[in-house]
Amino acid sequence: MIAFFVILFGLLIGSFLNVVIYRFPRGESLAFPASHCPHCDHKIKPLENIPIISYIFLGAKCSSCKTSIAFRYPLVEGLTAIIFYITYLRFGLTWDLIVFALFGALLLAIAFIDIDHMIIPDSMIVIGLIPGFYIWLAKEGQLLTTQFLGFLGLGLIFLAIRFFGELAFKKEAMGLGDVKFAAMAGWVLGWDIGIVSMFLAFLSATLLFTVLMPMGLISRKQQVPFGPFICLGIWLGLLAGRQIINWYLSMFLGV
Ligand SMILES: [Zn+2]
Repeated sequence: MIAFFVILFGLLIGSFLNVVIYRFPRGESLAFPASHCPHCDHKIKPLENIPIISYIFLGAKCSSCKTSIAFRYPLVEGLTAIIFYITYLRFGLTWDLIVFALFGALLLAIAFIDIDHMIIPDSMIVIGLIPGFYIWLAKEGQLLTTQFLGFLGLGLIFLAIRFFGELAFKKEAMGLGDVKFAAMAGWVLGWDIGIVSMFLAFLSATLLFTVLMPMGLISRKQQVPFGPFICLGIWLGLLAGRQIINWYLSMFLGV
């Protein structure tokens, strides 16, 4: 029963994220005007705005002009619901659930905005610092040094990658947004889990490239945003970073 409400809430937040992803980078208000079809300006009625279900019943088409609705919309709603559900499985019905589920939603919005516009908005990175303050208070400052080291360490590592990448490739290898985003991740996760999460980010990017490149879906010259991979890394680090570190230590160092 609780799981049902968690998923339902995830779908609603996901529906809001679609608005955020589209309007926020364009500097438009999140509240006004009400959602409308981008093609014919048909105002979307409440019944046409039910996450995922409306998409299916409308046959993926605007009810007025029959222009197809992008699969992106139910996808974001579904992914948000999954994020909420997994967070619930991991943390149970706690304050952690609320903070980290919303943090996951923020990461999802950042990932899609970066895919669309190749930017990570500064204001979203600032909002992303909030879970770090929550952890600081919840753990009574036990992790504060770890968090500060994470902020500085990850920021500096990414700044170095940016600097040397530009020297090596003669073009921007790592955006400044990624550097700030990594510093934010370090503040939330601490330096140890932060490093694990950035390793997972590079690993997932490498894996995706080795699959997509031979298939011809992306070319070597194409600019690919790195933000979505950082989002995935942060998310996995948040859920299982400590377990990954323990596994690594026992596997390779026998600790
Ligand atoms: Zn329309």
